[in-house]
Amino acid sequence: MLDLIQRWLPRSLRRPTTIPEALWQRTLTAHPFLAALEQAEQQRLRLLCTHFLLEKEFHGANGLEVTDAMAVAIAAQACLPLLHMHGVSGEAVADPRRLLDWYGDFVGIVVQPGAVVAKRKRTDGAGVVHQYDEVLAGEAMDRGPLMLSWDDVAHAGEWAQQGHNVVIHEFVHKMDMQELQLGDAPGGAPPLPDGFMSTRHRTEARALWQRTMQTSYDDFREAVSMAERFGGEPPWLDDYAAQDPAEFFAVTCEAFFVNRNRFALEFPALIPLYDGFFRPGQEPPPASAEH
Ligand SMILES: [Zn+2]
Repeated sequence: MLDLIQRWLPRSLRRPTTIPEALWQRTLTAHPFLAALEQAEQQRLRLLCTHFLLEKEFHGANGLEVTDAMAVAIAAQACLPLLHMHGVSGEAVADPRRLLDWYGDFVGIVVQPGAVVAKRKRTDGAGVVHQYDEVLAGEAMDRGPLMLSWDDVAHAGEWAQQGHNVVIHEFVHKMDMQELQLGDAPGGAPPLPDGFMSTRHRTEARALWQRTMQTSYDDFREAVSMAERFGGEPPWLDDYAAQDPAEFFAVTCEAFFVNRNRFALEFPALIPLYDGFFRPGQEPPPASAEH
């Protein structure tokens, strides 16, 4: 009840419940990419998480009970991309709590025990309707709740090596949906910070982003289709990234955050681009020998 009242207060007046130390430490340890953060970053992450937990409502589906440990694991991974970001309008923010505005269009997080099969319908260019099943580990809808499969979230520590992280994937979609008109689909083009990669104008920043993303996306699609056609080695990253530019953005961001070293080898052009988006004006993090 107290939390409900607090949610209506401005963030600066809220007094969220602190995350118990032992639980916080367990969360960090379970996720190598969180354990590797510097202490100041972990403190900032914890602050973001406490406010995230106050602002969001978790719902367990199909009999799943969302425990505190599950909620904190989701919060920590959801807030990781925010750590060094600028605000939604491109401005530097002094109060990190304002970064939660990136996720301000929704409250509900639905946690399913496992992946969900969704019935899909697609009309192709020739007007033929295709019906198919899609297995979803998560889903983000513009101005709607976010869905996560706990089975996938629970493997986040283990799957970091492969660059896989469902929580980051879905929350990055939310960032990508920031400036959408109702009914539009995201396109791997989130609002960029002021002065993005030393550009002077928004149009220049956007053009640089689009150009770099398009080249990397085309190269990746080419690698996927070469592997399919000639039975070669499939690319390191999930070929789901070849689906469309929005999925490419979400899937590559997963790897950027959970296995930066391997990601840098696979997508060297995206490292400065994503550093420019997720940590504008900051030094790149020190290289780790872990992966
Ligand atoms: Zn996706």
